[in-house]
Amino acid sequence: MEPVFQNETIKGILSRYRRIWAINHAQSVLGWDMEVNMPKEGILERSVAQGELSVLSQEFILKPDFIELVEKAKGLELNEYERGVVRVLDREIRISKAFPPEFLREVSEVTSQATKAWEEAKKGDDFSKFEPWLDKIIDLAKRAADYLGYEDEPYDALLDLYEEGLRTKEVVGMFDELERELRPLIEKIMEEGKVPREHPLEKEKYEKEQMERVNLWILQKFGFPLGVRSRLDVSAHPFTTEFGIRDVRITTRYEGYDFRRTILSTVHEFGHALYELQQDERFMFSPIAGGVSLGIHESQSRFWENIIGRSKEFAGLIYPVLKENLPFMANYTPEDVYLYFNLVRPDLIRTEADVVTYNLHILLRFKLERMMLNEGVKARDLPELWNEEMERLLGIRPKTYAEGILQDIHWAHGTVGYFPTYSIGTLLAAQYYYHIKRDLNVEELIAQGNFEPIKAWLREKIHRWGSIYPPKELLKKAIGEELDPEYFIRWVKERYL
Ligand code: MG
Repeated sequence: MEPVFQNETIKGILSRYRRIWAINHAQSVLGWDMEVNMPKEGILERSVAQGELSVLSQEFILKPDFIELVEKAKGLELNEYERGVVRVLDREIRISKAFPPEFLREVSEVTSQATKAWEEAKKGDDFSKFEPWLDKIIDLAKRAADYLGYEDEPYDALLDLYEEGLRTKEVVGMFDELERELRPLIEKIMEEGKVPREHPLEKEKYEKEQMERVNLWILQKFGFPLGVRSRLDVSAHPFTTEFGIRDVRITTRYEGYDFRRTILSTVHEFGHALYELQQDERFMFSPIAGGVSLGIHESQSRFWENIIGRSKEFAGLIYPVLKENLPFMANYTPEDVYLYFNLVRPDLIRTEADVVTYNLHILLRFKLERMMLNEGVKARDLPELWNEEMERLLGIRPKTYAEGILQDIHWAHGTVGYFPTYSIGTLLAAQYYYHIKRDLNVEELIAQGNFEPIKAWLREKIHRWGSIYPPKELLKKAIGEELDPEYFIRWVKERYL
C-alpha cells in the first residue's frame, strides 16, 4: 500500500508530532499502570507526573513554529488523510489555546480534592462533604465553556469537547424522542413479562479463575490477539487503553457473583479495543490513528455488548463453556442465560441499569448538567432535583445520596457534558445492527462463533478511517445517514416485546 502522507508540509508536521505522540504514549502507560498495578499511595506522585506530562504535551502543541506549520497546511491542496491531520491538530490547538495555564492548574487541584471529598461523602452517605466542591466544579465548568466559546448555550462548548460537532439542541431532540417512546415501552415490557425482572443466576457465586477461563475463551473466539497485541487484566472499573495500534489493553472485574457482569464488561471493552486494533497501520504515530470521538467509541463497545453479547445466539454459543466451568450451570438452560442477560427492571444505579432503562439515567444527568450550566442551579438543590427526576422517569426514588446524586465519579473529576456520549453509543449500536443485517446474517454468524465477517464489516465501514472525519461525516460515510434513535426503539420492541 502506498503511504498516505505525501505532502512535505504534512510530513514536517508529523515528524514534530511524534514527540507529542510519545508523551501521549507514556501517559497511556502510566494511566494503565495506575489502574492495574500501582499501590494505593502511589497516587500522589503519579498524578503529579501525569500533570507535568500534560503540560509538556501542551507546550509542544502550542509551539509557535508548530502552529505556523498547521496554519500553512490549511491553505494547501491535500488528500483526505492529510486534511484529517490538519483538522485534528487545528482542533487540539484551539482547545489548548483556550485555557490559560493557571485555569488548568486550578482544575487539576480542585478535581483531585473534589474526588477525595466525593469518596468520603459517598462512603458516609453525607452530601454536605461534597456540596462545596460540586459548586466549585460547576463554576469551573461555566468558566471552561466561556473560554471555549459557544453559539447557543454554554453546554454546547462542553459537549463539543467530548463529541466533536454535537450540539445541545440535537441532544434535547434525541432525549425527547427517547423519553416519549421509552417510558410507555418500559411499562409494557414489565406488563408482558417476556423478559423477567429477576433471575436466580444473579445470585450464583463463582471463583475468579472459573470466569477468567470463560472470558479468555470468549476473547479467543472473537480473535482478540492476546499476548501478541493485547492483554486482559483486572481493575476496579473496566476500561480499554491503547498505547498504539499494536498494543491495546482491556480490563475486566470479578465480583464473585452475578457472572454476566464480568462477561458483558469483557465483551464491551473488546468492542472498544477492536476499534483501535483495526486502525490503518499507515496512520501509526499520527494524530488520525485512533477512534474519533467518545460517542463513536462507545457505539463500538455497545455493539459488541448489546447486539452480540446479549443475543440468543451468543447465549447458545457460550453455554457449553459456562457449563464446563460453573457447576451450578447444570441447573440452567441456554434460554436461562439469554433471559438473565436481558432482564429489564428500573434500578437506581446507572451502571447496574438494563439496556432499556439505561438511556433514562443519562437523560436525567443531561438535564441536571444543563441546569447547572445554563440556569444557575446550585449544588444544594441537586439531590432533590435528582430524586424527583428519577421518580418521574423510572418510578423509583433514592433513599440515600449514595444511590442518588453521589453515585457517579464523573462530576468529581470535573467531567461535565460527557454523559450524552453513552447514549449516543447505545443508539448507534442498534443503528449499525440494522445496516449490517443487510449485508450479513449476523445471528447465524454469532451462532457459529464466526466473528470475522462482522469484524471486517466494522473495519471497512468505521475502524479503518481512524479520526480522518469528524463523527457526523464518518457516520454519513459508514452508513449513509445521521444518528437516528428510531433504530434503537425498533430494536427494543423487537427484542423485549
Ligand atoms: Mg465504554
